Amino acid sequence: MTPKFLADGMLGRLSKWLVLLGFDCRCVGWKGEADAALLEIAQNEGRIFLTRDANIPEVKGLRKIVLPMQALEDQIRFVLRNAGVKARREKLFSRCTACNVELDQVAKEEAAPLAPPLVREAQTVFFRCPACKKLYWNGTHTANTAAKFEKMGVFG
Ligand SMILES: [Zn+2]
Repeated sequence: MTPKFLADGMLGRLSKWLVLLGFDCRCVGWKGEADAALLEIAQNEGRIFLTRDANIPEVKGLRKIVLPMQALEDQIRFVLRNAGVKARREKLFSRCTACNVELDQVAKEEAAPLAPPLVREAQTVFFRCPACKKLYWNGTHTANTAAKFEKMGVFG
């Protein structure tokens, strides 16, 4: 089974990149929630807890990964290695980076009027977040990000 993650509030960037890779990752704690509350969410939802805080207590039945490094790319590799999982290319950009939910593919006729003119002409495949309704498409921005992930060697 693909692992799910809960990143504490310090790891917002890491969380976003894990979501870009297609992993289910919630980031909680940026509102100042107590550690105990975060651990409880992780446990209830069966998520691996990601933190940079080595003092987070052990909780029975809860898996956590303490990240000793600061560099984002190293963190991504470390998380995947410790979770025993590889990213999959077909899952890339499959979730909304704001809501962490899977995107729906939408018909071009439906999506195109909502997209900027240049995008409308160039793209044929569109996706939409069912929660926030944000429209997504693949373009140079996603190609650049995908190339970064390839260079990181995160794919299985
Ligand atoms: Zn969304």
